[in-house]
This record gives sequence, C-alpha cells and structure tokens, in this order.
Amino acid sequence: MTTCKAFHQESLDDPDAFWSREARRIDWHRPFVKTLDYSRPPFAKWFVGGQTNLCHNAVDRHAATRPDARALVFISSETDSEIVYSFAQLKREVMRMAAAMQSLGVVAGDRVLIYMPMIPEATFAMLACARIGAIHSVVFGGFASASLATRIDDATPKLIVSSDAGMRGGRAVTYKPLLDEAIVLARHKPAKVLMIDRGLVKFSPVKGRDVDYASLRERFIDAQVPVTWLPSEHPSYILYTSGTTGKPKGIVRDTGGYAVALAASMQYIFCGGEGETMFCTSDIGWVVGHSYIVYGPLIAGMCTIMYEGTPLRPDAGIWWQIVEKYKVSVMFSSPTAARVLKKHDTAFMHKHDLSTLKHLFLAGEPLDQPTHEWMTRELGLPVIDNYWQTETGWPILAAMPGVEKTEIRYGTPSFPVYGYDLKIFREDGTVCDADEKGIVAIVPPLPPGCLTTVWGDDERFVSTYFSLFREPLVYSSFDWGIRDKDGYHYILGRTDDVINVAGHRLGTREIEEAIQGHPAIAEVAVVGVADPLKGQMPMAFAVVKDAALIATPQKRDELEKAVLKQVDTSLGAIARPSRVHFLTVLPKTRSGKLLRRSIQALAEGRDPGDLTTIEDPAALEQLQQALARTPV
Ligand code: ATP
Ligand code: MG
Repeated sequence: MTTCKAFHQESLDDPDAFWSREARRIDWHRPFVKTLDYSRPPFAKWFVGGQTNLCHNAVDRHAATRPDARALVFISSETDSEIVYSFAQLKREVMRMAAAMQSLGVVAGDRVLIYMPMIPEATFAMLACARIGAIHSVVFGGFASASLATRIDDATPKLIVSSDAGMRGGRAVTYKPLLDEAIVLARHKPAKVLMIDRGLVKFSPVKGRDVDYASLRERFIDAQVPVTWLPSEHPSYILYTSGTTGKPKGIVRDTGGYAVALAASMQYIFCGGEGETMFCTSDIGWVVGHSYIVYGPLIAGMCTIMYEGTPLRPDAGIWWQIVEKYKVSVMFSSPTAARVLKKHDTAFMHKHDLSTLKHLFLAGEPLDQPTHEWMTRELGLPVIDNYWQTETGWPILAAMPGVEKTEIRYGTPSFPVYGYDLKIFREDGTVCDADEKGIVAIVPPLPPGCLTTVWGDDERFVSTYFSLFREPLVYSSFDWGIRDKDGYHYILGRTDDVINVAGHRLGTREIEEAIQGHPAIAEVAVVGVADPLKGQMPMAFAVVKDAALIATPQKRDELEKAVLKQVDTSLGAIARPSRVHFLTVLPKTRSGKLLRRSIQALAEGRDPGDLTTIEDPAALEQLQQALARTPV
C-alpha cells in the first residue's frame, strides 16, 4: 500500500505513466497515441488520438454487462415520487432523448442548453448530448432571465431543453416564463425549445419553436441511436462558474480526460465501486452535480441518486432515510447543508440505519471546524472536506481514503490530490514556506479533467488564469491558502476577499473563524467596507444560535462587544470589525455560497447587483435593516 504522498509524487514525476495507466479504467474506441500533448502551454491535451464517449462509459458498457442493475434513482420529496431506472432502462431513455434531439437538427458540436429542475429528463438530456457529441450547457434553475440570457448569448445553443417548473419547499418554481423572457432578452435565438411538461404549471407553447417531449418520446420509443465516437479533446460541455466574484466564465471540459479523471477519483477519493450507491445532494446546474450526480458514479458503474427537494421536508431525516433505503455508501453534500442539519434534532439522523455509509464528502465553501467536528461525531464516520472549482471538475485538495487512510483534521481539506502540482505562492512569484499564507496555484500542465479553455475565448483563458506572475507560468485559483508543517492545507478565502486595513492585509476567512469561535455565533460573514481613514474596515454579519441573546438592544450591544473582544484576543485589534450586525439568516445563493459582493455593496450603500440566485430574499431586507440601525 502506497501513501498519499508517494502516490502524489508518482503522478508528478511521470504523468505519462501515471495517467496512461489510469486511462485503462474507461473504454476507448480507438486507443490514444500520446498521453499528453503540452506543446502549446498552458493548453494541455490529454490522450491525444484516442476516441471515446462519455455516455458509452457511463451507460452502455454497464447496460451490456449488468442491464438490470440500478443506475438512477429519482426521488422527489416535493411531488412524492420515486422512480428507479436500471442501466438498460437508462440507456433506452437516453436514446429516446438523443433521437428527439437529432430530429430537431442537433448534430455533434452543436450546443444544447439545459435549463431544468432536478428531474431524470435533465440527466437523460445531458447523457443524450454526450452520446451524439452535442455540447451541453446546463444553467442552474435558480438563475433568472437576465443571467440566463447572458449564457444563451455566450453558448449560442441550437436547442434549449426545459420544463414547466421545479418544486421547492412545497411550492412550484416556474421555469418556462423565465426562459421565454430570457429568449426575448438574448440576441441569439435558439431554433427550438424542447419542453418536458411535468403538469405543475400551465404554460402556452410558442408556436413553431416549442416542442413537447412526451410526443417525441412516443415517436422514438424504440429508437436505436448509436454512440458517436469522439476525439478525446472534443468538448463535452460548457459550464459557467457561479459568478460569485465576477463575470461568469464558460468553462470548457473535454471528453477523454474528464472520463479518466472522474473514473480515477471514484476509486481513490470517493471509494465508490460498481453496484454501490452514491447520493450527491448538489444540483445538476453546478459542477459537483455534473461530476458526482451524473458522470462520476455512472462511469464507476454505481447507482446515482437524483433528489428534488430540501433537506428538511418532510422532516430533517429525509436524506438519512434515503441513505438507509438505498444503502448509500458514498454521500456528497455541502457545508451549508451540514450547517442546516446541525440546527435540527440529531434524532432525525440516529433513527436511521446508516451502516452502509463509508464517508461523507463536503465541498463548495469553507467547512468550519465546529460543523466538521459535529458531523464527524454524530455520523461516526470520516467527513471529508474537499476543495475544488468549476474549472477543475474534480477535487484539488482532499483526503484520499482509497489510497491511504490518513488522519482527518478539522478545518482542512487535507492534501493536494495526485495530478495537481499545487503550490502556495507569495505575490512576488516565489514559493511560500510552511505556515506562510499565499495564493493557491497549480503549476501546469493541469491534470486530465480540468478546463481546456474558456468557451470561445482562448485569450481569456490565458489572461484570467495564467497571468498571476510573468514567471513562472501557473494557474491561479484566486484563493488564499496555507500549508502547515504536516502538509495539511487550509483555504483562507478568496484573493479578492482580502481586506486592506491601513496597509495590513487580512483575509475575511480568518476573521470569520475567530468570530465563529464565540459560543453564541452560528454563522458569520465578514466583508471589507470602504473607510475614509483606513482604506477598508472589516464588517461582520453574524447569525446567533439563540435569538434570545439579542432580544434587546442592550443584549445585542453586549454580545457585539464580546464578539469584538474575541477577535482582539485571537487575531489582534487590527482585525477588529467596525461593527457586528446580527441577523437570523445570511444572504446566500441557493447552492449555499455567500453573496459577498452583494453584502459588501449594500454595506457601502451601493447597488447589490444580480440577486436572482438568492435563497431567501428576506435575508437582504434584514441586512439593510441591520445596517440602518445605529449602535446604542
Ligand atoms: P466565480 O469564479 O464565477 O466567482 P465561484 O468561484 O464561486 O464563482 P465555483 O467554481 O463554484 O464558483 O466555486 C469554487 C470556489 O469555491 C473555490 O475557488 C473556493 O473559493 C470555494 N471552495 C470550494 N470548495 C471549498 C472548500 N472545501 N473549502 C474552502 N473553499 C472552497
Ligand atoms: Mg471561482
């Protein structure tokens, strides 16, 4: 048995040998002739000359050997439905969808935009695109017309696949009117819209443009659509980054490299094998959903669970009930979801048999120590924080229990994953020492599965990601990090989340961690606010565990003082926020990311910008009220 460290080193010392061995995990229609072509840095081409297909590897090869094995379980706690698809059934559904797309003129290389709730047809549509070589671009259902229109104009899809509505918290969330408006706003007009009518919300189809899927599916019920073999570097999809920090970038993923990277990660990181079940609670609109709801588990021959609903309906035990019922062995969620569950009685968890579960993986934002510790204790399992980005498609930093069972420490996503030559740089381009804070960067070539470019804009790919320094050429993550003496890595927030207080540079994450250390605080966001004297001052927005603690202005004032003192003692007075505002909820996107830019804008009295993805609009009102309140 090798160690994570040796395994990582091996991947960097001889990437050709490492990745050509890993490439055997998938089927190749034509073998590749070169493992890596890096003749045009920073553009890396993996498995050159090879031909393969994502859908074949995710569906067909399993349908051929284990047709009746479970492939996809759709569960909606909103519509009370549960549908199980075997690999054979999944293949049939994908071929029907692929035939429908072909009948609407879609051919290899065309873009298909998917704007859909969490229903099986969304997965069928993604796999159908992969099958015929069309490039899908899934846009998260939480985005409204303006954001959708920008993405339509950037991806210029021939076809859009959509649905009448999704369901959330017992209410229908309409999609169709937002889509119609987006198409009006967009300069590019897609020729056809394929509609999956769930019968949740009435809508009027646009004549000549909107096509009903139910009738097409009937027409193609027996369709046989062969897999289109694609060059390894063929773009499989475009996925826009969340846009938390700037204008969304259309991340382009290849075919062969992605398939290999996911297949390897399923063993080394996620420890999921054929016949087992994976439950990833993300959404197909995000990268985690692409990689670990759809492609990763299916490529590994696992059954994947697709869940529509919240973690709290009908009660806070719903996810654990699913784990028990489907004998889930790999679960993947987010720190936000973990914090939501933490607020509820643990009896909801403990009444279920979770003995099949091997690990819980959490990613997407910093996992605070108290939540990490709580979840580990309650589950009695390793809870694995993993750090990555839409850009990379799979984890950059993680514990790799499939390689070696390393000690899990709270508050850290552990070690660089094989394939990533990760280094922490000073701003002058030199490498940091242990325990020294710097910019998390990857020395290229990027491993298989990572972005190959920004859609339609090679220039932007280079200028955005590879121009941190003139020398050396490195990929910047735009996150701050630290590596400690034992090799554990800590992510300290975004590089543009830095607050510059009278020349001192402070990371918001550090201040947040300090405040979180106060027993009364459940959650906190710190942003930098323009200050005429000091340049910037940190300002904190905290959620208290018990509303009684801030029931009167005096109590609020006392708690604020206590929290400020906490910062003084753990970081020093320089990091002390100008104010601590107390709220009951923080403004976040529906995927759990803090809307930092908006919080900062409001605190500076500016326009908060695009807020279409906000989870709870009431959070904004609260924030504004809190800002208006003067201290006692
Ligand atoms: P944009 O790049 O458009 O501003 P975004 O960075 O929010 O959007 P994503 O690619 O979805 O879009 O998020 C990746 C980022 O999320 C990382 O760069 C990091 O800041 C944060 N992140 C992800 N996982 C973790 C983790 N385990 N710990 C800390 N931060 C994390
Ligand atoms: Mg980003």
